[in-house]
Amino acid sequence: MAAINITNVSKIYAGGVEAVKSVSIDIDDGEFIVLVGPSGCGKSTLLRMVAGLEAISKGTVEIGDRVINDVEPAERDIAMVFQNYALYPHMTVYNNLAYGLKNRGTPKAEIEARVAEAARMLEIEQYLTRKPRALSGGQRQRVAMGRAIVRKPAAFLFDEPLSNLDAKLRVSMRGEIKQLQKRLGTTSLYVTHDQLEAMTLADRLVVLNGGEIEQIGRPLDVYHTP
Ligand code: ADP
Ligand code: ADP
Repeated sequence: MAAINITNVSKIYAGGVEAVKSVSIDIDDGEFIVLVGPSGCGKSTLLRMVAGLEAISKGTVEIGDRVINDVEPAERDIAMVFQNYALYPHMTVYNNLAYGLKNRGTPKAEIEARVAEAARMLEIEQYLTRKPRALSGGQRQRVAMGRAIVRKPAAFLFDEPLSNLDAKLRVSMRGEIKQLQKRLGTTSLYVTHDQLEAMTLADRLVVLNGGEIEQIGRPLDVYHTP
């Protein structure tokens, strides 16, 4: 049993567009899978179905050994990191990190410990009392990562998390994400249209084209097929 089993999953949007066509991916525990492919190939749609932000038209998604097709997003034991950070603008960084845990009724001491640990890992301790607008793009993306980390989820889902950053920051954040993921050992599904980013991050790459899997394998096998 893999950590995430995506089995014969399809998405047919209202109007009939089949954005994802019978895709199957078994993601191992702790594995970093990158979905890559041109704009419109169905990457986001597939990720959003795993996240519960989009209904699954056909097939099943299992996280752990639980079919999550009909499970509410908040109950799926996953945390998602978005391209636009999706921080709460009126809350401090501390409260952005703590919010999801407060909602789950996590004891205050536990919240403080988890926020402190995530802030240390991401080197954002000095910004905890600031509001998001007083942070740079890279710092905001760290807060978004922190919000995922504090949940200690079974899986991270990343939707083009670095595409709003400048090229230099993108490269350094890429390295940080990889290091953090290995350190935490959290199973990850990451969407990008950037091949270099995909190669650097992935344990295995899934190349989508027209809603179907074109290739799946380790980066060197996918990009250096003779
Ligand atoms: P990618 O993330 O690879 O750019 P998407 O998953 O966003 O691709 O889109 C895949 C296909 O589904 C595209 O043809 C897109 O136009 C279509 N699509 C995406 N969202 C919707 C929607 N809400 N309604 C109808 N079609 C959609
Ligand atoms: P709210 O805006 O929800 O009223 P507060 O900003 O008053 O929240 O903070 C709620 C709790 O979060 C505080 O009692 C404190 O324990 C904790 N907290 C807030 N900011 C920090 C911080 N920078 N460092 C540690 N704990 C903090």
